[in-house]
Amino acid sequence: MDDGLNRQASKDLGQLRPALKFLRPYVPQILIASVALIVTASVTLSIGQGLRLVVDSGFVEGGSSELLERSLGIFALLVGLLTIGTFVRFYFVSWIGERVSADLRNAVFERLVSLHPGYFETNFPTEIQSRITTDTTLLQTVIGSSVSIALRNLLMFLGGLVLLFVTNVKLSLIVLLCVPLVVVPIILFGRRVRRLSRDSQDRLADVGSFAGEALRHIKVVQAFNHQTADLANFSARVQRAFAVAVHRIRQRAVLVAVVMLLVMGAIATMVWIGGQDVLSGNISAGELAAFIFYAFIVAGSVGAISEVFSDLQRAAGATERLVELLTAESALVEPPAPKNLPAGIPSVALDNVSFSYPTRPTVQVLQGVSCNIEPGEMVALVGPSGAGKSTLFDLLQRFYDPAEGAVRFADMDLKSLSLECVRGVTGFVPQEAVLFAGSVGDNLRYGNAGASDEALLRALELANAHEFVARLPDGLDTMIGEGGSGLSGGQKQRLAIARALVAEPRILLLDEATSALDADSEEAIRGSIERLKGQCTIIAIAHRLSTVRQADRILVLDEGRLIAAGRHEELLTSNPLYARFSRIQFGAGREVRAAG
Ligand code: ATP
Repeated sequence: MDDGLNRQASKDLGQLRPALKFLRPYVPQILIASVALIVTASVTLSIGQGLRLVVDSGFVEGGSSELLERSLGIFALLVGLLTIGTFVRFYFVSWIGERVSADLRNAVFERLVSLHPGYFETNFPTEIQSRITTDTTLLQTVIGSSVSIALRNLLMFLGGLVLLFVTNVKLSLIVLLCVPLVVVPIILFGRRVRRLSRDSQDRLADVGSFAGEALRHIKVVQAFNHQTADLANFSARVQRAFAVAVHRIRQRAVLVAVVMLLVMGAIATMVWIGGQDVLSGNISAGELAAFIFYAFIVAGSVGAISEVFSDLQRAAGATERLVELLTAESALVEPPAPKNLPAGIPSVALDNVSFSYPTRPTVQVLQGVSCNIEPGEMVALVGPSGAGKSTLFDLLQRFYDPAEGAVRFADMDLKSLSLECVRGVTGFVPQEAVLFAGSVGDNLRYGNAGASDEALLRALELANAHEFVARLPDGLDTMIGEGGSGLSGGQKQRLAIARALVAEPRILLLDEATSALDADSEEAIRGSIERLKGQCTIIAIAHRLSTVRQADRILVLDEGRLIAAGRHEELLTSNPLYARFSRIQFGAGREVRAAG
């Protein structure tokens, strides 16, 4: 056999090694399954000997009925043992398969949630979601059945081969000659199946992610009458997945058929030669019966191994994809010995910060931004769309590291603190409120699981959400759907503010929603911010004049640069860019209303 092929096959199956690590905790179960495996294989093999006895004693002239009965008794005993052994083997092997895939899912998810957010810009979440389900399910099938089939058949193959030789050497040599004929196609086709299997899983992930996106945004799909186009797109993806799967199945079908043909051909030759020997009286009929039995076992096990070999190759493909996720490294390195922030409200400093997104390294989104924000100060961040305001918030929460310069809390570089600490002191209210499926209370406790109901109510009041929450059918226990479905935009926004406050942040990052709040709520939140001032540092991306007026200081960002800082009235006169921006952004009408 070609040595290169051999090495290739072992390298391919080597992809499965990381999955083996997950088997380690279950050695007792593996041992039980192995014992059951050995028992069932031995029993099956010994049935051949029983067959020989029964044929020679019962069906051939001169046999005794007493011998026949005894043989049948032993046979019944063996069948009983086989039944119990099969149950134990099946149960434990399937259990291990399920357990390992559950552990793998956990391990993959654990790794994923700790990765830097930028990872998910190049690796799409819906595709990853499919890997967690389909790839682990494939592994579960392989560990829970294919491996056991392969091992059982390997044992049967070896045992059967030995017993073949014990029964008849000449006939056994015929069988042996056929082995390489069978093994070479297994390895050749197996490699192709593995490649196609990975392809097939990728295509399946594609199908899943497309459906996920369309269903998540079903209103937009329907509003644009995009159903037919989506269906066509979806069908094209399904078709591609189908085509790859058919290709894989064809390879596998050819493999199984070729192996069967070779095996059956060999058996036919052997029966013919053996039959001649029985006729000439060289061997007994029982011997030939036992031999045929073993030959079928050996052939069957080779067939079964060839079939599950491609399963193992498929699993290697799936493991490769899972291992990519399991070994993905976060770009945000945590210090080995993180420092602790001193108690109290920390100051915030940006020191000559420049930044580009990893997906667009040539575009500088922030350029040499420096500023100091005093503890308890309220700062409004203003600037045209795309100026880099949200990016600055990302850096303040260390979702990305600056390319140059440093971000500091209480004069400590964020890189010297643990990520948990950075996110623990900051509270973030995104422009588009993201809520999770669960009760209103669950959502409010998102950043502070131990918060009391009183704390929730206080936060709700500050966010001017207490009245509408009280009017909900079950108050805090009202269930809301994924993404906060069942609530209006303004209600979601106010809940998001309350959620940030429940976590008692020392630095509140507020990305103002421009349209979600009505004038009443806006006024109420203005009042809340007034009450919060001094209790924590507030940095607000401001789209409303009311917020800008409230701020102790305004930082004006334009094309990634900090171009001015000061109070609203000062900047109106001192900075023409701000004056123009203010006129466009805040509008004369709003200014009159707010001023009035
Ligand atoms: P807006 O007021 O419209 O929200 P902004 O001032 O918050 O705008 P940012 O969202 O910080 O602006 O974006 C600044 C620039 O960075 C934009 O040119 C944007 O296209 C780019 N950008 C934002 N996010 C990413 C990303 N994940 N990858 C690559 N580029 C990005």
